[in-house]
Amino acid sequence: VVKRFRWVAGFLLFVSLASGTISDTTRPSLELTLDGYQVLAADFHIHTFPLSWGVLSPWDTVIEARRQGLDVIAMTPHNLTGLAKIARWFSRSFGGPIVLVGEEIHSIGYHLLAIGVTNRIAWRQPSRTALDEVHRQGGVAIAAHPVGPYTAYDAEAMLKLDGAEVVHPIGVRDETTAVQLRDFYFRRKLTAVGDSDYHFGPMSPNLDQMGVCRTFVFVRERTEKGILDALREGRTVVYDRSHVYGDPRLIQLAAEDGRLPKFALTAPEPRVSVRLAGILGALGLVIWIATWKSAWD
Ligand SMILES: [Zn+2]
Ligand SMILES: [Zn+2]
Repeated sequence: VVKRFRWVAGFLLFVSLASGTISDTTRPSLELTLDGYQVLAADFHIHTFPLSWGVLSPWDTVIEARRQGLDVIAMTPHNLTGLAKIARWFSRSFGGPIVLVGEEIHSIGYHLLAIGVTNRIAWRQPSRTALDEVHRQGGVAIAAHPVGPYTAYDAEAMLKLDGAEVVHPIGVRDETTAVQLRDFYFRRKLTAVGDSDYHFGPMSPNLDQMGVCRTFVFVRERTEKGILDALREGRTVVYDRSHVYGDPRLIQLAAEDGRLPKFALTAPEPRVSVRLAGILGALGLVIWIATWKSAWD
């Protein structure tokens, strides 16, 4: 009887692995050109392992970004820049998205994304001077989740900011927060950015899907410089479930064309059969382990 159980368990495990693998969907890259601009899907706020509340290594991050159809990612560890350099090397060597080196300046009163910088920036300083340092290094500065305790930008800092996360998982989960993100964005003409703030894990306040919130960047050239220029000049379009933000002319262009995917959360969920197979597979594994000893008696 135990032997038969083990056969059943093995079969269940096999079926679940096979169906999971077959149904694993990859989001295709956009390959879209509108009015002479290449439209790239980007996520500018991604954490990795180690030291940054992520579980994916820099190279797994690159693979996952490709799977999510992202053309551009910025790796933004808390107060670090080295990991992104590993990811960039990996992506260039084995094929993958353009990786921008960045960091999330994790200060008191504000979190600031420094995109396209070379060296880490001291976090013990007011946002106004941190912004100067980002620009001195040739980078672009984006206010990360600017709500509640993350809004320490005085009038001078507001003028120096390049962009703000107007779409972020915290807003997708909670409408009051969504309104706060929107209010910050509309304080001044800032570049609209949508990011996933990807962490992964039970402690994560976010949605555990890279690129779930994303930014469509309209570039003249598919290079790091082309992307940074587009961010400086506000050439982005960002969707949440019911709104769109960004350059009005580009929003219009995208609407007329109709091919830009509106919101990444609408990704196909795994089919019920696949989920069932997963549960059965887990059950199979439990039976397999539980009968391990008796199989050798
Ligand atoms: Zn943050
Ligand atoms: Zn973050």
